[in-house]
Parts: sequence; C-alpha cells; structure tokens
Amino acid sequence: MLVRTEELKKHFLIGQGQTLHAVDGISLTIEENEILGLVGESGSGKSTFGKTLIGLHPRTSGLAFYRETPLPDNFKTSDHLRYSKEMQMIFQDPYSSLNPRMTVLDIIGEGLRLQGEQTGKEIRERVAYWLQRVGLHPDHMSRYPHEFSGGQRQRIGIARAMIIEPNFVVCDEPISALDVSVQAQVINLLDELKQSMGLTLLFIAHDLSMVRYVSDRMAVMYLGALAEVGPSNEVFFEPQHPYTRFLVESNPEPDPNTERERAHKPIVGEITSPVNVQPGCRFANRCPRVMDRCRVETPQLIATSENRQVACHLYN
Ligand code: SF4
Repeated sequence: MLVRTEELKKHFLIGQGQTLHAVDGISLTIEENEILGLVGESGSGKSTFGKTLIGLHPRTSGLAFYRETPLPDNFKTSDHLRYSKEMQMIFQDPYSSLNPRMTVLDIIGEGLRLQGEQTGKEIRERVAYWLQRVGLHPDHMSRYPHEFSGGQRQRIGIARAMIIEPNFVVCDEPISALDVSVQAQVINLLDELKQSMGLTLLFIAHDLSMVRYVSDRMAVMYLGALAEVGPSNEVFFEPQHPYTRFLVESNPEPDPNTERERAHKPIVGEITSPVNVQPGCRFANRCPRVMDRCRVETPQLIATSENRQVACHLYN
C-alpha cells in the first residue's frame, strides 16, 4: 500500500470552548496505482482529510504513513520540501488557487525552484514541456492567471502538481468549479496522466456517479467519519450504509427521461452538529432504520466481506 491512516483526526477550536470535529478518526488505506474516490456532502470533512493527510493542516491525533514511513503530525518546511516530491494536491478552485501576481512560468516552476536542484533554463524547459502535456502552449508561460479560462487554469494547476512527478496526488473536487463542457476534458487529462505516470490518486468529490466512473474504490464520508468503503461499482449499485443509499437515490440520472421518472426521496431530519460530537451514530437523526442503540453507541467500521467495510449497527 502507498498511503495509510489510522484514526486520523483533525479538530478545530472555534472559540467558547467548542471544538469542530472536522475529521474524526479516519482509518483508510490507498493502494499503489489505485484511484480512491472520497465522496460525501459538502461539510463532511473530505477536503480537510486530504489536506491533513499531506501535511497542509497539522493533525490533531492519529497516524499517517507513506510507504509505511510515519508522516510527521505537524509538517516543518523541511518536511514539506521532502514530501512534496512524493505528494501533491490539485485544488478545487482554479480561480483562487493560482497567485494572480505570478506568471505561469513562476507558478508551475515554483516547486522545482524550491527544491533547488535545477537551473533556471532547465526549469523553463520543464515548464514548456508540462504546458504542452496538459494541452496548453509553451508561449503561455509569460502570461498571468487572469488571461485564462477556468478549464485552462485548472490545467495550469495540474501542471504545477505534475511537474514534480509525484507518486500520490490529492485531487480536491478538481472539476466542481468548472463548466460542464470542460469537466470531461479535465477528467480525461487526469486519467491519461494517471495511466502514463503510474499515479495513485485520492479523488475527492460530491458527485457519486462521477466518482464511480473515475475511481477503483470508493469511501463514503459523513460528518467527519467513514460510513462505507468498497469497490466503487459495488458501493454504488449495492450500497450497505443507509446514508450511501440516500446519496445514490439523490444522485441525478444522466438520462433526463429516467431522471423525470425517478422517485426522489429527500433526506429528512436534522443534521447532527459536528461541534462537540456526542457518542452514537452521526446519521441517527436522518436514518429511517435508526434503533435505540444507534443513539448511544458509535458504530465502528467493520468488514462485511473481503473488500467491503461499513459503519452501521445493522451489520454488527
Ligand atoms: Fe442508521 Fe443506526 Fe446504521 Fe446509524 S447505525 S446508519 S442510525 S441503522
């Protein structure tokens, strides 16, 4: 396996003695060369998990490993330099994630420059190569981010991550801020790079059918905790956790005729607060199959078959 976490937690103190449990004990493995899709509604802690995993947030507790080497819980500058060669991130918003005052050359070449192993000429050549590789033109390197469309900016963000030639990339909702017309192009580009570079990806998104299409396995997150993990097609077509069933049922069908005929069942009930979390299932207030036990006992993620796990008292 390439990446592993054990009970990884990221809490934020939000004043008046209150704690936001953004990520609350995630144990997950990511195998070499796989795409693991991490899916859930906004506010479920997906992006915070990805950022904490690669050291952009200090961990509150728990462990993280890269090739079975423990990662520091609070990355220093030297750790960022060391692990940025292995782990990179593509951000959700191609508008705010690129410094508007830097040229494309400086943005894409910054990682190489910080490593200090290549000359300015070599960095320029690598930037030119990567601009072409992501479907842009080498002449674009002297321009600024505002001169590009959203799709082109995301290609710049992808080139910035890939120029380091990492092994592991966290893709944080990489297409959700883009027009539908360019989403497929960016997905195809990521897929091509994944195949040709032998990458391992953590693909974070809220669109279940897109995650199923892109990923080998899928992990479903709800309010900072994992609800279900398994092969993407199995989780999508035979969901075990009641929350995954809701996500599948509320996922729009690509065919408008089928979509019109579908009976939508909205999730009812109050969302449990991720602040000062109490014992019990976080989905209990919204779950149609809730039992007394669910209100007091937190379900643990357990194996239901060789390659599937679910955190629900219906299964233990
Ligand atoms: Fe529903 Fe209980 Fe399972 Fe939670 S543990 S999802 S409340 S049945």
